[in-house]
Amino acid sequence: MIEPGGYIRDLLAGPAPRAAEARGWVKTRRDGKGVHFVQLNDGSCFQDLQVVMEAGAIPAETLRQVTTGACIRAAGDLTPSPGAGQAVELRAREIEVYGGADPASYPLQKKGHTLEFLREIAHLRTRSNTFGAVFRVRNALAFAIHRFFQERGFLYVHTPVISASDAEGAGAMFQVTTLDLMNLPRSNGGIDFTQDFFGRKTFLTVSGQLEAEIFALAFSNVYTFGPTFRAENSNTPRHLAEFWMIEPEVAFCDLDGNRRLAEEFLKYIIAFVLDRCAADLEFFNKRIDSTVLATLAHVAGSDFEHVSYTEAVRMLERARDGGRAFEFPVGWGMDLQSEHERYLTEEVFRKPVIVTDYPAEIKAFYMRLNDDGRTVRAMDVLAPRIGEIIGGSQREERYDVLLDKIRRHGLPEQDYWWYLELRKYGTAPHAGFGLGFERMMMYLTGMKNIRDVIPFPRTPGSAAF
Ligand code: ATP
Ligand code: MN
Repeated sequence: MIEPGGYIRDLLAGPAPRAAEARGWVKTRRDGKGVHFVQLNDGSCFQDLQVVMEAGAIPAETLRQVTTGACIRAAGDLTPSPGAGQAVELRAREIEVYGGADPASYPLQKKGHTLEFLREIAHLRTRSNTFGAVFRVRNALAFAIHRFFQERGFLYVHTPVISASDAEGAGAMFQVTTLDLMNLPRSNGGIDFTQDFFGRKTFLTVSGQLEAEIFALAFSNVYTFGPTFRAENSNTPRHLAEFWMIEPEVAFCDLDGNRRLAEEFLKYIIAFVLDRCAADLEFFNKRIDSTVLATLAHVAGSDFEHVSYTEAVRMLERARDGGRAFEFPVGWGMDLQSEHERYLTEEVFRKPVIVTDYPAEIKAFYMRLNDDGRTVRAMDVLAPRIGEIIGGSQREERYDVLLDKIRRHGLPEQDYWWYLELRKYGTAPHAGFGLGFERMMMYLTGMKNIRDVIPFPRTPGSAAF
């Protein structure tokens, strides 16, 4: 019988000496006189288990197959290790090779692979030190997010992946259709989507927010955590076509409450991952970005800054007039570009900063209009190295104001009938935000390219694996 369990993580932490067994993939092998050392990893932790094989104890034919990339079972005695670098080691009495890996062709050799090359072997990069650490952090981060909301009584709601509303205003969408592209049904010179699978045009969702609002206005505090899709053709290191988003939606909450929730949330998940993935984060700090640990500790322990959009623009104008060069123009009414966001968070404040109350024209229709009539209760959380990490707002809960904004934005009113009805029947002040899961991953790990913090990245021109 082969049973699961028996992680290397537990062997490394547990008592020795004792009889033990480990299964995993060979990272490296080193040969001494009549004795061979293997670094074995099963993904359960950053550290490898050193397996010591004596030529007398293990058949030569078996030994021959124990090479980098091979999958083996090693059984023997777990003993305190005389060597440096590990507290215990496994002295093998028996080795079973589940699957060998021809050293002549196995692509993942000991050293010197670029992240770009590893992306091309996404089926094997999971066994590298870097991606082992990335995906353990990703797992811990997902757990931290659920824990944060569950501890606070939030309801986890599954919003649909296929969406019929075609104007959420968040970006370009992927259309979902089963129509025969070589033979499209026509009516009145256009395509007849009543013959499509759902009897109408449908898309992959760009955000679960509008549906989450339905749930917040019944369950008070809710959150979504699911995949979202954007067909924006922006080939940047911060954009994916398929990414995961966390969207809390909170009834009886205004923008100040929303801001506090976002800050508490970010600090909580950072502290959780710092605690849970210490060895992985140390690796990132040593090999990827030497500022990661200091930045995270700093963020977890300090208050976020808060400025209004109007103040932020003034700061940017002063910087520009003082000789700071920006590629894009700054001025009230213009959206902040990534370089402006990074200037604020990296050079002015040197920590996360929350910018609020943007001009109504540059933000989505559902954001609550301020009394000045020209700004809305929007907030963006900007983080050093990343720029925008969270976007959110207090929602417009007043029926007449919302209807007016839908019309001004030139949106098809009939598509929003249910969204409007939420304001007609038992409306309430409410607010929420969206955190890009992979942006947070970049922040935690220091990885520079968003393609390297998701198992199987989808970007323009690329959907391998
Ligand atoms: P950006 O200006 O960076 O494109 P956005 O204004 O389009 O962001 P929102 O629509 O507010 O972003 O989405 C909420 C969050 O989702 C963002 O704060 C960001 O963390 C993340 N996000 C947005 N677009 C992408 C993408 N293409 N890939 C990965 N994460 C994204
Ligand atoms: Mn965008």
